[in-house]
Amino acid sequence: MEDKLILIDNGHGNNTPGKRSPDGKLIEATYTRDIASRVVNALRRLGYNAELLTPELYDVRLLERVHRVNVKCQSIGKDNVLCVSIHCNAAGNGKEWLKATGWEIWTSPGKTKSDDLADSFVAMAKRHFDGQTIREWKKVDGERDKEAKFTILTDTLCPAVLTENFFMDNRKDVKYLLSDEGRSAVVRCHVDAIVSYISGLI
Ligand SMILES: [Zn+2]
Repeated sequence: MEDKLILIDNGHGNNTPGKRSPDGKLIEATYTRDIASRVVNALRRLGYNAELLTPELYDVRLLERVHRVNVKCQSIGKDNVLCVSIHCNAAGNGKEWLKATGWEIWTSPGKTKSDDLADSFVAMAKRHFDGQTIREWKKVDGERDKEAKFTILTDTLCPAVLTENFFMDNRKDVKYLLSDEGRSAVVRCHVDAIVSYISGLI
């Protein structure tokens, strides 16, 4: 299963306005790039085939991101690819500290293989984000992830999830994200969730 291609996407770019904590200490583009690189490196050390989807520092358009994923899906088969997009959440416009807190995950609407990947993430989030809020959206069909028509989730052919790693406009969340403990927990959650999902497919 090590021949599965894991594409790690990071939110936004250094030219995206806003998308930062009110004190400017956490910039989503920079932070998620750091996490994405660490996740790719950790997966490679474990023998997996992982790549950054958007190594550029600037914001790569969503349709281009989707195109890159689907080119891989078409060349090696959509069941041999998975895509994880890493973001930080915000409750407001980033100008003031707000109260919303916690970690959450999104997939495309309907029941797909992405839901299994999301289940794996929720399990690992509970394991690694000790004392933090996991924002679960209890749906009638029992899916634990939130669903949205995000282009990167709906237009990609392979299983795809988008993680919102805590709120960059919540003081407590930002302190956690920037701590060594928080940063490594975010990385471990992603690595373990991906490994456990792929292992479950064997
Ligand atoms: Zn984002």
